[in-house]
Amino acid sequence: MLSVYQITLPTPYKVGPVNIYVIKNRPLTLVDAGADTPEAYKMLRHMLPLLGVNINEIERVLLTHSHPDHSGLAAKIAAESGAAIIAHRIEIQKMASTADPISERLPYMLETGITIDEIRAIQDDRDKLPGQTMIDAKIYEMQEGDLLEFETGELQVLHLPGHSPGHICFYSPEQKFFFSGDFMLSHITPNPLWEADPDCPERRMPTLSQYLQGLERVEKMDISVVFPGHGGSFSDYHGVIEAVRGHHDVQVKLMLDKLKGYELNTYQLCRKIYPNLGGWDVFLGLSEIQANLDLMMENQLIGSYKRNGVVYYQTAD
Ligand SMILES: [Zn+2]
Ligand SMILES: [Zn+2]
Repeated sequence: MLSVYQITLPTPYKVGPVNIYVIKNRPLTLVDAGADTPEAYKMLRHMLPLLGVNINEIERVLLTHSHPDHSGLAAKIAAESGAAIIAHRIEIQKMASTADPISERLPYMLETGITIDEIRAIQDDRDKLPGQTMIDAKIYEMQEGDLLEFETGELQVLHLPGHSPGHICFYSPEQKFFFSGDFMLSHITPNPLWEADPDCPERRMPTLSQYLQGLERVEKMDISVVFPGHGGSFSDYHGVIEAVRGHHDVQVKLMLDKLKGYELNTYQLCRKIYPNLGGWDVFLGLSEIQANLDLMMENQLIGSYKRNGVVYYQTAD
């Protein structure tokens, strides 16, 4: 039996507060760590003793993925407690990388037809929190199928990419708890973020089809409670999965409608669907539209051609 406690920490991001979970079994384990801000750290230091936990007692920090709202405080907690940090290989690489997320994705961004001014606006609006400094931490990789043992109980590791390429979730076969990170949330559909294939950076990952395949897998599982990275825990995961699928179906219909009679690049289509986005949100909007276009191409709903380095899409009929 695992004793699970939720702590909600503030983040400076639009997504709002993030949940981390304390598993009070030996080895004492955290699932995710929160954003690296003084407010989040103060809240963590305030909450742990209320659960009867001293920060020094934490022995391992499991990270669902490397996004800064989930991984930011991992290094600080590890420095204080000597805890091991455990994440998927791809996410460890991302945390160690100093590459600028926009420069990394520049080849795809230019293919969308986006203007240089808009790219500058995205750059200027980007996350200004400090990057990870994991140099002294003990970092271990985990992958699909791994088992994390506790004195009483265990967690299975599931690799469920789409929101992030090395996103993992944790499942306790005994209590049927599912720690979902950002893979499954009750109130929002996770954005299939634009990602390069880590083994072949020129190739874009099929994030949305990976994500939907992951949902099919989770749908067949026996889960009692989902402990998500944001929002409250929930049991109706079948309802949440249906809602996510419904959201994508609506989006595909809307995109087909906007494409009817036109040849549009990703940026033009994004602007037609989200005319008011600015700054970093343009990056998120483009990412989402591109993920849907990639899936629509895969399903042969649309066709495309390249002109002057920009890809244009049109309906298949
Ligand atoms: Zn995330
Ligand atoms: Zn998140």
